[in-house]
Amino acid sequence: MCSSDLALDSANAGRLVASADLVLDGTDDFATRFAVNAACVAHGKPLVSGAIGRWTGQVGVFKGQPCYRCLVPDIPPDAETCAAVGVIGALAGVIGSMMALEAIKVITGAGEALEGRLLIYDGLVAETRTVRIGADPGCAVCGERR
Ligand SMILES: [Zn+2]
Repeated sequence: MCSSDLALDSANAGRLVASADLVLDGTDDFATRFAVNAACVAHGKPLVSGAIGRWTGQVGVFKGQPCYRCLVPDIPPDAETCAAVGVIGALAGVIGSMMALEAIKVITGAGEALEGRLLIYDGLVAETRTVRIGADPGCAVCGERR
């Protein structure tokens, strides 16, 4: 399902995600990201997550464990909004293209998707690094002790 005039929230995320083969999340607030992640875990859907802030962007692929909430357990107290700090349009294009590439790899099985890893791109110095994401046993969404 694709709808441009429907706001996704925790009440409708499950229904929307259930009909998808894969979900790309480029939303700009943690409440929506958490709702999308929970729906993806509940319905066993792969999630390609992308985010940008100032000059830095990140991309990750989540399939079961670890999930996005293992990476971001709670809304960071110093979280910045795109409205407050601005968005570099070209960076949105870079991260969006990386998300599309990851989605194609997940769907086709080609290559090695960023599953369990987070790619961080620093647009100011044009450098990337990739870090591993561990599953959190106490994760509120996918953990064994939830
Ligand atoms: Zn988790």
